[in-house]
Amino acid sequence: MHSSFDDIVFAIILVFPIVIFYAILQKHWLDKDLRKAFWNGIIAGCFSIFLVRVIYVPIELYLGGEIRAFISAPREWYITLIACIGIIGFVEEGFKTLGAHIVCCLNREGGFRPTFVFISFAGCALSFSFLENIQYYIVYGASVVLPRVLVSSLAHLSFACICSYFSSSAFLLIKSPVKTAFLLNIGILSASFLHGLFDYLLFKYSIMVISGIILAMLSFALFIMYEIWIQALKKDIPPMGFLAVCSSCRALTVDRIRFCPFCGKRVRKIDTLPTIIKKSDTDGN
Ligand SMILES: [Zn+2]
Repeated sequence: MHSSFDDIVFAIILVFPIVIFYAILQKHWLDKDLRKAFWNGIIAGCFSIFLVRVIYVPIELYLGGEIRAFISAPREWYITLIACIGIIGFVEEGFKTLGAHIVCCLNREGGFRPTFVFISFAGCALSFSFLENIQYYIVYGASVVLPRVLVSSLAHLSFACICSYFSSSAFLLIKSPVKTAFLLNIGILSASFLHGLFDYLLFKYSIMVISGIILAMLSFALFIMYEIWIQALKKDIPPMGFLAVCSSCRALTVDRIRFCPFCGKRVRKIDTLPTIIKKSDTDGN
């Protein structure tokens, strides 16, 4: 039996990963492109999980039951592992990647910036796991879903971020198509492999038995995500200098930078000089 109070608690925990992610990257939302990447990524993730459910229909008809039931059933370990990587990992990571790539391609200017790629993948993964958790809640109830909300969101996020690293490297090498294609494939394959392996461990063993391993993996995932984000920021150099004002200390800069050289906060591109400068300009003339 669950009350409306449980529903409220559940709703809060469910949106928790999205809110935390949004809050951590708060200072970057000044960048209009990145804000767009996030919200379009969220929308793309909804489409991705819808497509995944559609693709699962013929696969589940073939397997004669639900895919998660197929994996939970006792059978040879390698068959379970192949199903985890080849079906769940590949289908889910494939469509998540497709969604994020569409977001990048639709944004004519700046869609291939490493930070844009990272954020669109992350948004896609966050809404994907959000809807997946709602689906599990409807099917299995709160007691099954609650312990896994943070674990599954973080896992989805880290697979997507790893894939985004390869995708953004691929986009930077767009002039050599062979390298681009190679990197895009490596990205999807490595995310599929990690996703499948993670699900295999979760289905094969009780979450309590391997909680130490899961905790270690998630800590490592956080570290990797942080490193990938820092790399994306380092590579995110504007192609041309522009006039910008700091969002915090109001310093003016004309350079190929996205962060204030004085205080480190985001700078905002401005098209016209602030009136005080214009005025003194005309006074001089
Ligand atoms: Zn500043």
